[in-house]
Amino acid sequence: MDQERLARALRNTDDVGVWELDLDADRISIFGSLRGRYGHEGESGFWSDATDTVLSRIVPEDRHIFCEAIAKAIEDGERFSIFYRVRRPDGAIIYSNTHGRCLFDKDGRPVTVSGVTIDVTARKLAEDALVAGEARYRAMTNAIEQMIWSTTADGIYDFYNDRWYEFTGTPKSSLTGKSWQNLLHPEDRAAAQAEWQKSLVTGKPYKAEYRLRHHSGEYRWVVARAQPMCDESGVITRWYGTSTDLHERKLAEQRQQFLLELNDRLRSSAHATDATSIAAQMLGMQVDVPRAGYGEIDANEEVVRVERDWTRGETTLSLAGEARILDGFGPAVVAELKAGRTLVVDDCYRDARAGAAYAETWDSIGCRSLIVVPLMRDNKFTAILYLHDTKPRQWGPEDIALAEDVAQRTFAYVERLRAENEIRLLNATLEQRVRDEIAERAKTEEQLRQAQKMEAVGQLTGGIAHDFNNMLAVIIGGLNLIQRRLSRGDTNVERLIANAMEGAERAAALTKRLLAFSRQQPLDPKTIDANRLIEAMTELLSRTIGENITVKTLLSPDLWAVQADPAQLENAILNLSVNARDAMPSGGKLTIETANITVDAADGAEQGIPPCDYVRLAVTDSGEGMSKETIARAFDPFFTTKPVGKGTGLGLSQVYGFVRQSGGHVRLQSQLGVGTSSYIYLPRAAGQSDDEPADEPQPSQPGQSAETILVVEDDERVRRLSVEALRDLGYSVIEAGDGRDAVKLLQSRQDISLLFTDVVMPNMTGRELAAIARQMRPNLKILYTSGYTRDATMQDGILQDGIQLLAKPFTMQELAARLRNVLDAS
Ligand code: ADP
Ligand code: MG
Repeated sequence: MDQERLARALRNTDDVGVWELDLDADRISIFGSLRGRYGHEGESGFWSDATDTVLSRIVPEDRHIFCEAIAKAIEDGERFSIFYRVRRPDGAIIYSNTHGRCLFDKDGRPVTVSGVTIDVTARKLAEDALVAGEARYRAMTNAIEQMIWSTTADGIYDFYNDRWYEFTGTPKSSLTGKSWQNLLHPEDRAAAQAEWQKSLVTGKPYKAEYRLRHHSGEYRWVVARAQPMCDESGVITRWYGTSTDLHERKLAEQRQQFLLELNDRLRSSAHATDATSIAAQMLGMQVDVPRAGYGEIDANEEVVRVERDWTRGETTLSLAGEARILDGFGPAVVAELKAGRTLVVDDCYRDARAGAAYAETWDSIGCRSLIVVPLMRDNKFTAILYLHDTKPRQWGPEDIALAEDVAQRTFAYVERLRAENEIRLLNATLEQRVRDEIAERAKTEEQLRQAQKMEAVGQLTGGIAHDFNNMLAVIIGGLNLIQRRLSRGDTNVERLIANAMEGAERAAALTKRLLAFSRQQPLDPKTIDANRLIEAMTELLSRTIGENITVKTLLSPDLWAVQADPAQLENAILNLSVNARDAMPSGGKLTIETANITVDAADGAEQGIPPCDYVRLAVTDSGEGMSKETIARAFDPFFTTKPVGKGTGLGLSQVYGFVRQSGGHVRLQSQLGVGTSSYIYLPRAAGQSDDEPADEPQPSQPGQSAETILVVEDDERVRRLSVEALRDLGYSVIEAGDGRDAVKLLQSRQDISLLFTDVVMPNMTGRELAAIARQMRPNLKILYTSGYTRDATMQDGILQDGIQLLAKPFTMQELAARLRNVLDAS
């Protein structure tokens, strides 16, 4: 090819130049565009420079490469290929690759060196980038915690990061190809390998969990994953993979799984022994020991009893039965257990706590190493769970933790079974106990009701005694008179007999009512007429409530019927009356009132009573009244403002209980210093009352006759008898029913020589009357009489010294003697 054609061909590239070094001229001629490319002006095509000029363009550090290559080419005539850098005038670096060879003349003298120079800058830069990329990748793979590796497309390992070498403890680059497989746990090898093959064939990502030998010698669980990398046509070029240590997680999972299964199996065992045997067996297999068991400690913390233990194989001895713990374990170990600490012994011969003597005993029953978990109930050593191994064994923390966990779960379950059993037993007897309890309660309530009633009766005893004495006075006095008349031959005793009879009958009736009232009666609601019930009570009440209190009844005609227990209603009215009496210590007025009341919605809302038809019973006194605080608490059981021995605080609570039980309501209205009204609302009942009419009170007759005596007595019958007796004794008699009438008589009649007066009377007492009479007639003789005992009368301060009292009941002889005594005294 001539110069012309070469130059034409070279014009098609900027990267290649052809050159020739003329050794004699020491100049280099160049064809091609390299000159321009190197940043020098001038035509592309042919040019020539001195060798030194060309050399000066080469980076100083690389110049020797060029020089040495030329020298060597001249020396050996071989082809050479060198790389060097050229610096352009603008400072940029061009990488050049030059090939050349020396040409010799026929005498073997070197003449020229010629060759080709190629600009390889682009390629060089690309290569550098690649190297840098790889270094970066390596640095990154070593900077993370996981093991990273790669394989060729057919699964041959060609890279591991540092973590891999650290984990496995193998020297760097000693692992290549397939040798990694020897590091897998033999049991996991086949499966991991099969999975890997599957991925290599299918190209699907790889994942496998297996145990990998750790540099410590133990196998640890790892998870390995790999992803294929493909070229543009989808052909796998490499695999990139990681292996991650998940040993702890795997153990936790396995433990969790084990415990779940344990729970299930515990739950399906109905008896404590089943549960403990299952736990021992599962734990024994899991931890891999020849013997595991569960024993209960007796109440004295001395004897351990193993119902059934688990042993691996027939050759291992069972420890089922009873043993004294101290004898078996020794004091040091028992102290440890009693303190609630798990006992862990790796080798009993080397453990100071066991001691040589015990160690031998343990060894003889196939126990060289052991774990014993003590189980405590309320700080008391209650049970143990144990693991025994025939060989010395270094227990791992997981073994101990698992044994403790299983022990606690088993214990909790056994305790639950025990509690359930107790509850079952309790349930079996519960019904009976509830029945007994209810019966007992009913009995107590009945007793309480009776006690309240007796209490009310008790409060009335004083009054009743007085009433009885009045009646007896009528009877005894009448009989005395009859005796005297008959002895005189006077047979006009008809009326006296009738009188005495009447007194006796009344006494009998009172006794009867009293007995009926105090008799223990079961609660027996009846349809009743409250008017009739009150009428029947009134006499008893007015007799018993005290003479300085007037009892009045205002009974509404056509009163509706109510549904209630009559005895309880009587009791309630009695309680309210007793309260009224207590509120009027110096006398007053007690009114018992009945009315039909229709409570409508508006009234009801105001009073807090549901709208309904009611029969309202009101007991009103003119007593001291109640404060707001007292009203608020009055219904509370045992609330009383009365001195010890006087009040029980049970009266109003009885009233409340009874009325609420009968579907009714109770209200109190009171004003201090004015009085109190207690209202009982009982719902109207359909139909007529079932009770009988009350006894009719009997009519009475007056009587008539030298010394004039004024008899003042509120009890008409007693007065009549006294009048008869005095006339019989030959006195002339005038009478009055109360103090006021007596005062009138004293004013109108001057002939009165003696005042014979009852002490306790409503409106004006005998003492008050006597005081007025003495003012009118200072010399008037006075004889008192009273049904109350002398002491009670004296205590009340009613009587003064020197004043005579004739106690009821009295005989005619007594009356005659006392009268003469008083009249004849000066
Ligand atoms: P007790 O009469 O034994 O004290 P109660 O339950 O019958 O018990 O009454 C409780 C309290 O209510 C009385 O102590 C008294 O303070 C007050 N009380 C009840 N009724 C009246 C009344 N009519 N007047 C004044 N206070 C009364
Ligand atoms: Mg009371």
